[in-house]
Amino acid sequence: MSRSSGLYRLQEIDLDSDRLKERLEEIRVSLDDSIEISQLRAGLAENESSMATVRSAAVRAKNDVEDQRLKLQNTERGLYGGSVQNPKELEDLQMESESLKRHLETLEDLYLEVMLEQDEVERAMGASSASLQAAEADQAVLHAELISERENIDGRLANLEAEREVASASVAEQDRKAYENLRDRLGGVAVVVLNGDSCGVCGLTLSASSRQLVGSGDDLIHCIQCGRILYGG
Ligand SMILES: [Zn+2]
Repeated sequence: MSRSSGLYRLQEIDLDSDRLKERLEEIRVSLDDSIEISQLRAGLAENESSMATVRSAAVRAKNDVEDQRLKLQNTERGLYGGSVQNPKELEDLQMESESLKRHLETLEDLYLEVMLEQDEVERAMGASSASLQAAEADQAVLHAELISERENIDGRLANLEAEREVASASVAEQDRKAYENLRDRLGGVAVVVLNGDSCGVCGLTLSASSRQLVGSGDDLIHCIQCGRILYGG
């Protein structure tokens, strides 16, 4: 095996590992991401709080109506029960009874309004709750898929690590250091396969003698433009 081919093999393993690690990071972010669920939970909590408010308003409105009905009954008892005979008193009771009836109508309208509002809040709460359940179910499915993918990647990374140890054994220490320095500096790609007579990354055309040296693989030949180690393939 030539010096550059050993490094090229190492790089293939390292690039595979890089890709898998990037994917692991994406998975980690996706597993952490519950913005949608949090928003839906917040929406539902808001509905629940509106519901509590409107329910107590409904209880108050109902009590007001019942109190008013009792007042009216009492007045009518006076009016029609025969206990009051005085025409002036009867006239006063009649007026009071009419006034109580008018206010009762207002209170009944208010009660109806509150009941309609309660129906509306109930519908909104049902919709929020259904959306949250659906989102949680979707998330559970997605998480199960991601966790299974993560396990698969962990296994592949362990295999790559073993392959890397084998590949490293056939590379001289100084070559490996040069390779790693280049990978750090040049975006992960230190070794490049020739594209015809040109550098496969920057496209610089090689002289015939450089081309020959790359082909022999005895020395590490760097592209004079981008600095990468050239590999004949
Ligand atoms: Zn180049």
